[in-house]
Amino acid sequence: MSEKRRLSIGVLDGDGIGPEIVPVAVDVASAAAACEDLEFDWVRAALGVEAIGPHGTPLPDSTLAALDALDVWILGPHDSASYPQEFRNALTPGATIRKRFGLYANIRPCRAYQGVAATAPDIDVVIARENSEGLYADRNMKVGSGEFMPTPDIALAVGVITRDASRRIAREAFRLAQQRGRHVTIVHKANVLRLSTGLFRDACLEVAAEYPDVVVDEQHVDAMAALLVRRPTDFDVLVTENLFGDILSDLAAELAGSLGMAGSINCSDTKAMAQASHGAAPDIAGRGIADPVGILASTAMMLRWWGDHRDDDALIRCASRIDYAVEATLAAGIRTADLGGIASTREFGDAVAAATACTPA
Ligand code: ATP
Repeated sequence: MSEKRRLSIGVLDGDGIGPEIVPVAVDVASAAAACEDLEFDWVRAALGVEAIGPHGTPLPDSTLAALDALDVWILGPHDSASYPQEFRNALTPGATIRKRFGLYANIRPCRAYQGVAATAPDIDVVIARENSEGLYADRNMKVGSGEFMPTPDIALAVGVITRDASRRIAREAFRLAQQRGRHVTIVHKANVLRLSTGLFRDACLEVAAEYPDVVVDEQHVDAMAALLVRRPTDFDVLVTENLFGDILSDLAAELAGSLGMAGSINCSDTKAMAQASHGAAPDIAGRGIADPVGILASTAMMLRWWGDHRDDDALIRCASRIDYAVEATLAAGIRTADLGGIASTREFGDAVAAATACTPA
């Protein structure tokens, strides 16, 4: 029998529902890998509440050192609001990781699954969200935070938009569009935030000139929110700054069925991190009912990204196996509570893992 090829992937469970959904992603990816003569060595690293006791910090140096050596990893959600007070004002673990590894692109596809009730069953969009600046106080300054309180009654927030970062995410969006519907919508608010989101729009339009095969148009973010609800099928790839992208991707995910099903990766040109669009969902944590589809879709995206970058078809087939297995499981009527089903997180995950074997990749 031939030796299985071994590849290392990082895994950080995180907080809230993380320890319930991330192990499901590990099991499903391992099952898919076994069908492709691959074996993943899971490199576990501590993050969040579980790290504070033994390491005295939610993001230990040993975790960052482990990630230094890896191309890809799965990050569970973190719930920094639940950390002891001394850690709450610090950079969140996710932001620190994104900053350290320059994960500038947050790619968030939203598509309805067959048989799952959705407000917009035909929606099929990808949001390319700039991930390194904007109004995000946790990542737009080298030192200190981008928020200030000169008096107890006045709060200021700095929004950072740079031409380089805007062009970088625009390129990602246009490359994505070339593999899909060849249509990019630039989302901004340049009628009000003329200089900042105006610069974002202009930088994206500069990049658009390099992709004459892709149709480009633009929308103000508020109109975009309305149009996503009214005419979701008019859109393909949306490129936008950080905060707008965060909000629009939650909207698009819910239109497609459930926020719990939305996958996402954060990537640079050399590293990718699977991280579901949703947060730690503390309201349902510990009950075994969380929907693992979002983290499974994220894991598949990460493997596809890796396969593309390494020119490794087996990884791409692994990703397809996971996607098909999730679709088949949902189509068979197995669902978690957020979709009106009765399957636990683990039961749903076991069904998906089993389906990876019989799924034509
Ligand atoms: P963050 O700002 O960290 O992204 P959030 O404020 O957007 O977090 P979430 O933690 O994503 O909030 O939760 C929003 C709602 O969606 C909650 O009611 C939560 O229970 C639900 N939810 C989120 N993820 C899932 C999931 N995987 N399965 C089921 N429900 C989920």
